[in-house]
Amino acid sequence: MTGFTPITGHCQCGAVRFRVTAPPVKFYHCHCSMCRRCHGTVFGTYAVVPRENLVIERGEDNLTTFESSPGTRREFCKSCGCQLFAEEDARPALRLYTPATCDGWPGHAPSMERHIFVGSKLDWYQISDGLPQFDEY
Ligand SMILES: [Zn+2]
Ligand SMILES: [Zn+2]
Repeated sequence: MTGFTPITGHCQCGAVRFRVTAPPVKFYHCHCSMCRRCHGTVFGTYAVVPRENLVIERGEDNLTTFESSPGTRREFCKSCGCQLFAEEDARPALRLYTPATCDGWPGHAPSMERHIFVGSKLDWYQISDGLPQFDEY
């Protein structure tokens, strides 16, 4: 991975710390109702990396898991509630992390960034950033 500087991230309370050692293979803002409700935001932003490129450096035992839909497990800090990771049975070699919890730029190509599941978007929220929009993953 030439040119990529590993980035670190952590939850709000600092109990869980992680490091990402590769740029993402996908990067998206998801408007599905599971992301909206689990994050408590108008969309959930995720970066996707090969599983071995996400290293939990501290606090793995402080993570708890919620299966928000069949085969999708979200992992968050059980002290502060911060959404940190997710994994999907459909993509076992990959792991998702929340780039908004990182200290640096996740290194995605600008052309990779997109909105997904926009059919589930909140009516009162207007996407105005010019990024591509998709009604599926
Ligand atoms: Zn925490
Ligand atoms: Zn979603």
